[in-house]
Amino acid sequence: MSEPRKRIFIGLIVFTVFLITAITVGLYLIPYVGLKNIHPLAPKIVCVSMGTVVGTLVFGVALLVLTLIRGREIFGAQRLRGVVIEVLFPIMIVVGKFLGISKEKIQRSFVEVNNLLVLAKCSRKRPERVLLLMPHCLQNNDCEIKITSDASKCKACGKCRIKDLVELAQKHKVHLSVATGGTLARRRVAEAKPQAIIAVACERDLTSGIQDAYPLPVIGILNDRPFGPCFNTSVDIAKVAEALEYFANGQCGSPGTGR
Ligand code: SF4
Repeated sequence: MSEPRKRIFIGLIVFTVFLITAITVGLYLIPYVGLKNIHPLAPKIVCVSMGTVVGTLVFGVALLVLTLIRGREIFGAQRLRGVVIEVLFPIMIVVGKFLGISKEKIQRSFVEVNNLLVLAKCSRKRPERVLLLMPHCLQNNDCEIKITSDASKCKACGKCRIKDLVELAQKHKVHLSVATGGTLARRRVAEAKPQAIIAVACERDLTSGIQDAYPLPVIGILNDRPFGPCFNTSVDIAKVAEALEYFANGQCGSPGTGR
C-alpha cells in the first residue's frame, strides 16, 4: 500500500475518532444538570456507557492502525474490515468532504485499506471458488464478440486485456466473469457463490462492490483509464496475477493493487 494513501486513511480515521469522542463528551456535558435531576446516579451511568463506547472505538482503531502498519493480522482483521466498511467509511466520506478531501481519494484509500485487511488474514482459497470479476469496459470497444455471457469466447487478438485475463483464469483454474454493471455483477456473485473475489473497476464501483460483497473477501484493483471513464480501460495484469497468487498460497503481503 502506498504511504501517502495509508497516511490519508490513518489521518482521517484518527480525526474521525477524535470528532466522535468530542461529540460524545459534548453530549454528556450539556445535559449533565438535567441528568442529575432525573437520578443522582444517572450522570455516572451515562458517563460509564459513553466511556465504554468511546474506549471500544479507540481500541478498535488502534488495532486497525497497527494491522495496517504491520500488514499482518493482530486480532480480528476481518471484524475490523466490517467496522471499516459499515461504520467508519461512510463517516469518513462526510469528514473528508468537510476537510476538502475528494471522495475519489477517500474511495481509493478505502479500497487499499480493505485490500490490506484481506491480505492480513493470510487465507488460502480453493481456485474454483475464486471469482475474477471484470468490468465490460475492459473489452476493446470495436470488438463484436459477446464476452459477457462467456469470456472464453474471446479470440485472443490481443487488442485488449481480456485475452490476458482469460489466460490467467485458465492457468489458475479460477472463474472469470465480465459484467456490464453492478446489477449483473451482483447476480454473477450470487450464481458463482465464491469464497473470494478479485475485482477490477473504478474507485466508485470497487467501493460499492466491496460493501455489497462483505463479508466475502474482495481484493480490489483499480482500472487504468487512458481514454477516460468506461471506455477501452485497462488493468495491470501483474497485479491481478499477484492477487491470484495470494489466494492460491494464502501468503500475507500486499499485491500492490494501487496505481
Ligand atoms: S482480446 Fe478478445 S475481447 Fe479483446 S478485442 Fe481481442 S477478441 Fe475481443
